[in-house]
Amino acid sequence: MGVFSLVKFYMESLKIRTTDKFQLVDITSKVEEAVVKSGVTNGIVLVFAPHATAAIVVNEHEEGLMSDIIQKVKEFTEPRSGKWKHDLVDDNAHAHIGSALFGAERVFPVVNKRLLRGTWQNIFLMEMDGPRSMREVYVVVVGE
Ligand code: ZN
Repeated sequence: MGVFSLVKFYMESLKIRTTDKFQLVDITSKVEEAVVKSGVTNGIVLVFAPHATAAIVVNEHEEGLMSDIIQKVKEFTEPRSGKWKHDLVDDNAHAHIGSALFGAERVFPVVNKRLLRGTWQNIFLMEMDGPRSMREVYVVVVGE
């Protein structure tokens, strides 16, 4: 490790189909596979959704909790349809607000070739304006 280490850069695009208006799609295993493929031993991994109406969130994969999170996100972003100024243009202001609040990216450490996360920290694409035939998530691994 040091200033003159060789830095690697690896990027992969995950293609994800969503089936509901609001949905949490667990992408943990795909992100972890990308980290392995990157060949990076120590560094960071960026998980980034290039979308203004979706978000990347980190939490436990427990069906009840996932439903609770969706319910709260729906409450946060109400009303849906008609009340926001952007709804005059696109009718999906609620999803833009959700994306702005929750964020379209998360960063994790990569240590000893593994993505470092807590036991109850799974990685999700959070759909807020689905269903969509293709959402993308970029996984970018940088390190040595
Ligand atoms: Zn819009």
